[in-house]
Amino acid sequence: MQDIAKNIATLKEEIALELRRLGREDEEITLVGVTKTHSVETVDFALRHGIRHIGENKVQEAMRKLPMLSESYDGFHFIGHLQTNKINQLLSLKPTLIQSIDSLHLAEKLHRALGRTNRTQEILVQVNVTGEESKSGVTFENAPELVWKIASYSTLYVRGLMTIGKLHPDPEVSRPYFRQLKKLFDEIKKEFPGDFDFLSMGMSHDWKIALEEGSNMLRIGSRIFGQRDYGDNR
Ligand SMILES: *Cc1c(COP(=O)(O)O)cnc(C)c1O
Repeated sequence: MQDIAKNIATLKEEIALELRRLGREDEEITLVGVTKTHSVETVDFALRHGIRHIGENKVQEAMRKLPMLSESYDGFHFIGHLQTNKINQLLSLKPTLIQSIDSLHLAEKLHRALGRTNRTQEILVQVNVTGEESKSGVTFENAPELVWKIASYSTLYVRGLMTIGKLHPDPEVSRPYFRQLKKLFDEIKKEFPGDFDFLSMGMSHDWKIALEEGSNMLRIGSRIFGQRDYGDNR
């Protein structure tokens, strides 16, 4: 566990250094600790040692863990593929930000579920910038249209964009994709009627590149918690 405290402290230092190097030291960057596969005890420990935002990618797992936490948090981020039949369960956990909305169908189901309970929800649109078939996300080409359509739903607030870079050992490979998404983000932001302010990109292996390319929200798992053990039932 002590490793986790040290990992958080050094990661935060590295992020601060990197921001200073980039002349972005005054900017607010959200660090989301990706807690998937890790125990309630581990999540509580991280929350006691400087993590304020947590990210989970499975509704079932979040349902099991979140109500058991002793520590409070500033944000719960849902970052995984969302099945429409899990929407109500996810909403019961009061997610701060659902980062993985990638189709109008899903947005519409979410809109209806929210309407029934008179609630609103902040979301990000997930873009599959790298075009890899194994990944969720709307295509880069269709992203603007999806953002504008979702923006017309009264219950949904689109706060920005999310993407996953290439899962390649060399993080430089992701740079052009991050740059492409930042450009699209800026274009939409210019015309967007509300707060369009989160660009969620960068994970354990490529967060520096993502920061260089304008990310302001990092989703970091293994760099904090170590390798994930998915057990037998992956
Ligand atoms: C697991 C996951 C992360 C964190 O990955 P690490 O490489 O462990 O930092 C970030 N974003 C999403 C969407 C994930 O599923």
